Amino acid sequence: MKVLLVNPPLTDPSGPYPSICYLAGYLDTIGIRAELADASLLVLLRLLTRDGLSMIRDRIRASIDAGAVEPDPRVAAFLDAYPSFERAIETAVACLQGADRTAIARAAREGFFPPPIDPRGDWARNAFFAVHASEAVLGELTPAQRGRILESRSPLRFAFGSMGVTDEVVYRASLVVRDVCEVVRLALDPAFALDEYATQLTQSAATFEPIASRLAGAPTPIDELVDSVTDDLVRTHAPTVVGITIPFPGNAYGAFRMAARIKKTNPDVVTIMGGGFVNTELRELSDPTVFDHVDFITLDDGELPLRCVLEHVRGERAEAALSRTLVRRDGKVVRIDGASEHDVPASRAGTPTLRGLPLKQYLCYRPSFQIMPRVWGLRWNKLTLAHGCYWKKCAFCDTSLDYIGRYDPASADALVERMRALATETGERGFHFVDEAMPPALVGHLAKRLVDEHLDVSWWGNVRFDRAFASLAPLLAESGCVLVTGGLEVASDRVLGLMEKGVSLEQAVHVMRALSDAGILVHAYLIYGFPTETEQETIDALEVVRQLFAKRWLHSAAWHKFVLTKHSPIAADPKRFGIVVESAGPRTFANYVLAYDEPGGIDHARFTDGLQQATGLYMAGIAIERPVHSFFTDGTPATTLAPDFVERLAERALSNDDKRKLALV
Ligand code: SF4
Repeated sequence: MKVLLVNPPLTDPSGPYPSICYLAGYLDTIGIRAELADASLLVLLRLLTRDGLSMIRDRIRASIDAGAVEPDPRVAAFLDAYPSFERAIETAVACLQGADRTAIARAAREGFFPPPIDPRGDWARNAFFAVHASEAVLGELTPAQRGRILESRSPLRFAFGSMGVTDEVVYRASLVVRDVCEVVRLALDPAFALDEYATQLTQSAATFEPIASRLAGAPTPIDELVDSVTDDLVRTHAPTVVGITIPFPGNAYGAFRMAARIKKTNPDVVTIMGGGFVNTELRELSDPTVFDHVDFITLDDGELPLRCVLEHVRGERAEAALSRTLVRRDGKVVRIDGASEHDVPASRAGTPTLRGLPLKQYLCYRPSFQIMPRVWGLRWNKLTLAHGCYWKKCAFCDTSLDYIGRYDPASADALVERMRALATETGERGFHFVDEAMPPALVGHLAKRLVDEHLDVSWWGNVRFDRAFASLAPLLAESGCVLVTGGLEVASDRVLGLMEKGVSLEQAVHVMRALSDAGILVHAYLIYGFPTETEQETIDALEVVRQLFAKRWLHSAAWHKFVLTKHSPIAADPKRFGIVVESAGPRTFANYVLAYDEPGGIDHARFTDGLQQATGLYMAGIAIERPVHSFFTDGTPATTLAPDFVERLAERALSNDDKRKLALV
């Protein structure tokens, strides 16, 4: 039996999504060898070539000639600058891959890259930042000085400095790639983006019909690329079984397209799907036509269900003994869950492997001069410290699902062993722990081992701002921790309490300060529009964020509007949060995001633009002194927090810590 595990289009181009690596590592422990393929990367690498570009140009011209499209000015700009794009594209890709060092020298020449297709976009912003950065040093500029900066031949020097040529070239190469993707989206396939495909067809889709119709319709150029990559993978690997992971809605259509293609060209090949999108959205799948394209769909952790299907295919296990697996029988979707075995514990899941994946060809796509995207755009070896979350209480989270609710940590010994193995296999010693929330005690043990054993690594991961991280911060930094992301969520003690985050604002500020004092970069995830959140609380949350940036205890942040999901404590008890869940109507495919009404609630959406704009400027070190309410429409209240609110919280946290220590003596 030949097993091929595939990451379908399209996901983050900086590295393989880890699930197939985990599954292959587990299968190794039971003597089944699986090959790995990243179809997402392969599609992009075919598109971002001279041949890919000439295909794009020819298709656009044909559509224009046929009167099918009126070209957008950005598409027209691409066609005008086509020779420049054609000359630069492969060097741009080489700059992002980092394999050919001479590419940087080539691309650093002035005028090598084509001009951006939308001069109002990044370049206008860059010029603004350049002027602002100069004013920060020189004071207010004269009109003549401003003019000289705006016309400067090196408007990015303020961001990268005269020595930062490589970073600047990687940034500009990323913009070339982004422009090509934007042209494809505007002129050929509106469902396409660099890291997601046809998300609107799949995310919370009530029925499978839109996906089925698109699969049956005329293929777009991107569909054709997906088909040709699928054909090549099947030809190369000649698999008996293909396992396709679907972590996100943005690669679900790509997964079904690949499965459908395999069913059409090689109907004897068995196909299996699983992954985060399936686990969260397809639990109530009842449309049997989905199984025209795929044979088995597995739920939750993939190790045991995959093993059961493989044994079944080999004739070693009865169908009734499959584990958490959906199939079509007698025209109906049936869930089979008759395996007698338990799930594989984290400590016995094996070491993930990246064998066969083209590690040197992943793209460090960094269309930003902010520090965080430049760090997490690198390729990191991905590992988890534990299965599930040690806290598993936050009201907005999928706590009722296995991937959050079942906490099962690996041991520090097993983790060190896995890190050594991955470093040897890939030649790279950077690690991203992809846990939803890294458990502090285990992180502490692991960090100590890394220090004691002089393992020269760098790593990052996501945390809940648990008080324990404050005292751990110096050890984490010493062990190679460079960056921490964490949920600051609403930055309001009332709402943090309501959502059962189990972290106070004082505690979060204390931890952020300790981490940044230890030299670790801090990124915060923020939520706005949480049920019952008021205008004043939203404004005050932005004020907390502003003060954190001003103190440099926070280096990056992103706001997300609250989304109600089916598997969260809020969905189980909406009354407690003042909301009424709307009826979902009949659904035979995905069922995850719930619509709801918040009687008497404010218009949360009116804060979207101001929150994004303010935080974008803070990350560039700009507008930190500006009153937060000025980012919103007239009538928005000013903050009620004192200008030193965050500083006082931090001081109080320190003195509370001292008292706790004294009490322990
Ligand atoms: S939001 Fe994070 S900390 Fe809270 S339960 Fe979910 S995974 Fe755990």
